[in-house]
Amino acid sequence: MTKKTAKDLRPATRLVHGGTMRSQFGETSEAMFLTQGFVYPDMEAAEARFSGKDSGFIYSRFSNPTVAMFEQRMALLEGAEAARATASGMAAVTAAMFGQLKAGDHVVAAKALFGSCRFIVEELLPRYGVPCTLVDGTDLDQWRAAMRPETKTVFLESPTNPQLEIIDIAAVAKIAHEGGAALVVDNVFATPLLQSPLKLGADCVVYSTTKHIDGQGRTLGGVILASEEFIQTHIHNFLRQTGPALSPFNAWVMLKGLETLPVRVAQQQRNAEQVADFLASRSEIARVLYPSRKDHPQHELAMRQMTGGGTVIAFDVKGGKDEAFALANALQVIKISNNLGDAKSLITHPATTTHQRIGPEARAESGIGDGMLRLSCGLEDVQDLIEDLEEGLKAIKTR
Ligand SMILES: *Cc1c(COP(=O)(O)O)cnc(C)c1O
Repeated sequence: MTKKTAKDLRPATRLVHGGTMRSQFGETSEAMFLTQGFVYPDMEAAEARFSGKDSGFIYSRFSNPTVAMFEQRMALLEGAEAARATASGMAAVTAAMFGQLKAGDHVVAAKALFGSCRFIVEELLPRYGVPCTLVDGTDLDQWRAAMRPETKTVFLESPTNPQLEIIDIAAVAKIAHEGGAALVVDNVFATPLLQSPLKLGADCVVYSTTKHIDGQGRTLGGVILASEEFIQTHIHNFLRQTGPALSPFNAWVMLKGLETLPVRVAQQQRNAEQVADFLASRSEIARVLYPSRKDHPQHELAMRQMTGGGTVIAFDVKGGKDEAFALANALQVIKISNNLGDAKSLITHPATTTHQRIGPEARAESGIGDGMLRLSCGLEDVQDLIEDLEEGLKAIKTR
């Protein structure tokens, strides 16, 4: 019998066993190596470690056994050659961009980006001599027109937050590559289970593991996944020298989170499907946006590049802010929070929270109305979620 490696196993099995390194004690659960550094048996061993002849651990800003187990498990899940964990999703995005770019380069990005990602491309990179062109991500002609000879990096997120627009990842990857640029995809909304950007042609994938991968609202984290060459050329040294390292404690929480990720995402997605259908059946709701529903404007593209609709729904309450607030304020099970991917269902009003800063014009242009709510479906019994929303809908009328 040939010995099985994690690569021979199916995804759910990889997420339980992949990357595990057992200590001399043979523990069942992965150990948490809460240590800054490592000791060497003698000076020759330290010399070999530093010269790279011995690949052992040196210092936890560079790497750590618990963090390495998490990285290995993420790489197996994504089908990536290499992974590097970071202290937050934003640390992953920052390193993925700054690690590649230098003054004189140019970036093309979709307008519909997570707020802090947009800050990086729109405000921070230009300060260092890297201008950015923002495009409507759903319009391929705009991507083509924005490319310049010096375009080095192309950046997008799909489905987008909060409108759940779908960007054609394979088509944008082709445009990027024809222009000699690399494509970075922020894959938080789809999760690694529902969409594989590397298989669609992306060069680098980033996650805020704060979301579904922790999945229970505890720790912040991020991860960058790409080919070994991409990581070595752009990411490895940048992270080592600038230090946005993931804490071994947080890595351990995420590592355990990965074991249950498929069960959680599947159930949260089933809840989201039913809640989306419920909302669409109600006269108080003007529009429901959920990628696997047939009435999603890009349903076909969504189903071509994703294996499900995901765990997040956006919907427009008829009226506007007052009606949306009345609904959300009446909820008892669903909590008001700007986070997502959690076991607890969370609702947010993008216009007054996550997308307040971009201003009314940019919101109108992106289709983020005052009546829009974003709902991240959790692991509660779906009937309790639906009954909670029924109470919320009643509160609009009695307002
Ligand atoms: C949350 C989020 C981030 C940032 O992640 P943090 O872990 O909060 O730093 C980046 N991109 C998307 C799409 C997100 O949802």
